[in-house]
Amino acid sequence: MSDFISDFGYSPAPERTKVAVKERYGLFIGGDFVLPSGDKYFPTYNPANGEKLSEVSEASEEDVDRAVASAKDAFEGWSLLPGRERGKYLFRIARLIQERSRELAVLETMDGGKPIRESRDIDIPLVAAHFFYYAGWADKLEYAFPMRKVSPIGVAGQIIPWNFPLLMAAWKIAPALAAGNTVVLKPAETTPLTALRLGEIIAEAGLPNGVVNIITGGGRTGELLVKHPGVDKIAFTGSTEVGKAIRRAAADTGKKVTLELGGKAANIVFADAPLDQAVEGIVNGIFFNQGHVCCAGSRLLVEESVFEVLMRKLRHRVSTLIVGDPLDKNTDIGAINSEEQLSKIKYYISLAEEEGGEIFQPDVAIPQRGWWCKPTVITGLSQSSRVVQEEIFGPVLAVQTFRTIDEAILKANNTPYGLSGGVWSDKGSKVFRVTQAIKAGVMWGNTYNKFDPASPFGGYKESGIGREGGVFGLYPYVQLS
Ligand code: NAP
Ligand code: MG
Repeated sequence: MSDFISDFGYSPAPERTKVAVKERYGLFIGGDFVLPSGDKYFPTYNPANGEKLSEVSEASEEDVDRAVASAKDAFEGWSLLPGRERGKYLFRIARLIQERSRELAVLETMDGGKPIRESRDIDIPLVAAHFFYYAGWADKLEYAFPMRKVSPIGVAGQIIPWNFPLLMAAWKIAPALAAGNTVVLKPAETTPLTALRLGEIIAEAGLPNGVVNIITGGGRTGELLVKHPGVDKIAFTGSTEVGKAIRRAAADTGKKVTLELGGKAANIVFADAPLDQAVEGIVNGIFFNQGHVCCAGSRLLVEESVFEVLMRKLRHRVSTLIVGDPLDKNTDIGAINSEEQLSKIKYYISLAEEEGGEIFQPDVAIPQRGWWCKPTVITGLSQSSRVVQEEIFGPVLAVQTFRTIDEAILKANNTPYGLSGGVWSDKGSKVFRVTQAIKAGVMWGNTYNKFDPASPFGGYKESGIGREGGVFGLYPYVQLS
C-alpha cells in the first residue's frame, strides 16, 4: 500500500480490478442483445466523478411489445420444465455470479456510487445467495404449498430502483423463475449496467431464450410495461408515489401487483442499551449506502436520559466516517446516486434549517467533482416536521427524544410508512414488546440492516403490498388451487 496520505487524512486503497464497459448497450430480448427499434439511447454516469460511463437503449413501445412477446413465447416451455431442471439453471446463474463477483461489485460501485466494501461484501454475495436460495425451492413447491395445486402466473413485469440495482434484480427474478414464470425486467435509469451484465450471465448459463428479458428505459418504459396486456403480474420496487400510480393503472386489469415502496423507519435507543454498540447500529442504519435505503433508520428516537451522552458519542463517530472515492476500500460513504437525488437531499437539509433544526455535519473534505453529501445529523425538530415525516433517501438522520416506552411506540408509528425499524435495549422483553407494537414489516433488535434470502421483507401501510424473500417471496408468483 502506498504511504501517500490523501486530503482526507488516510491512505487510499483503490480497487484495481478493471471492468470493461461498452460504449453502448442494446436490449436483452429473446436471449440476445438487440438494437432498440427507435434507435434512441441515454447516458449512465459515474456519480463519483460525473463522467459518462456508457449509453443504454431506450426501449420504445415496440421494444416492450417484443420483450413481452418473447417472455410469452418462452412461458410454456419454461413452466412445463420439471422444477429440478429450472433449479439447475438458477444454480448455474448463482455460480456464475459468484465467479464474476469482483467484476459485478466494481461495476455496481462505478454506476451507482456505493462504497466498494458494500457492493463487494454485502450486495453481490446476497445476489448470489438469492439465486441459490430460490434454486432450492424450484423442485420443492409442493412442500412450500402442501395439499395445493401450484401453477405459475405467467409473464412477470418487474421494475426496480437504483439503490441496490443487482440485488433488487435478484429479489425479483429468482423467485419468479423458481415458480415457473418468465420475466421482463426494467432497471432504473441511473444504474442499468449490472442488470445488463446479468443478461450476459443469463445467456452464458444457457437459460432458454426469452425466459428473462431486460429492457432499459425511463419511467415511460416502465409505464408501458405496467400497461401491457401481455403482462400477468407486476412487481415494483420504488417510490410510494409511482407505486400508487401503478396500483391505479393495474386496477382495471386482472394483473396481480406487489409493491415494495418507501419508508421512514424509527431506530429506537433505550437508556439501558449498550450505547457504543447502538452508535454503530445508528451509523449503519442511516449511512449504509449513503442512506439510499428504503429501510434506513432515518429517524433516531433516543430515551431522554441518555440523549446528551449518546449524541456526544454519535457526533464523534460520525466525524470519523470517510466520505470519498467509492472504489476505495476504506470509504464509508460513497457518492450520491444522481444530481437529482443530491438536490432533493439538499432541499431537505435547508428545510430542516427553516424548521428550526440544529444541523451537525463533520468537518470533512468532499471531492470536487461528482455528487456528494456529508453525513448529516439533525436535532431539535418536532414530530410534525416534514424532515421527520418524509423520506429523504440520503445520509440525513433526524433525532428526537422520548420518555416512556409508550411514547417511543407512538412516535415510531406516527408515519404513513411501515417498512422497518430497530430497537436497542439490554432487556429482551422490552425489545419484544416494542418490535411487536410497531407496525412495520421488518424489525431488528440490537442490530440493523441485516438481510437474508430466507427472511421475508416488505411493508405495512404506504410501504407496500406483498413480501419478498423466504417462502413468502414465492406467493406473488404462484397461482394456488
Ligand atoms: P422511482 O422513481 O419510483 O423509480 C423506481 C423504478 O420505477 C425505476 O425503474 C423508474 O424508472 C420506474 N418508474 C418511474 N416512473 C414510472 C412509472 N410511471 N411507471 C412505471 N415505472 C416507473 O423510485 P426511485 O427513485 O428509483 O427509488 C427510490 C424509492 O424506492 C424510494 O422511495 C425507496 O424507499 C424505494 N425503495 C423501496 C424498496 C423496498 O423494498 N421497499 C427498496 C428500494 C427502494 P426510472 O429510473 O427511469 O425513473
Ligand atoms: Mg449511473
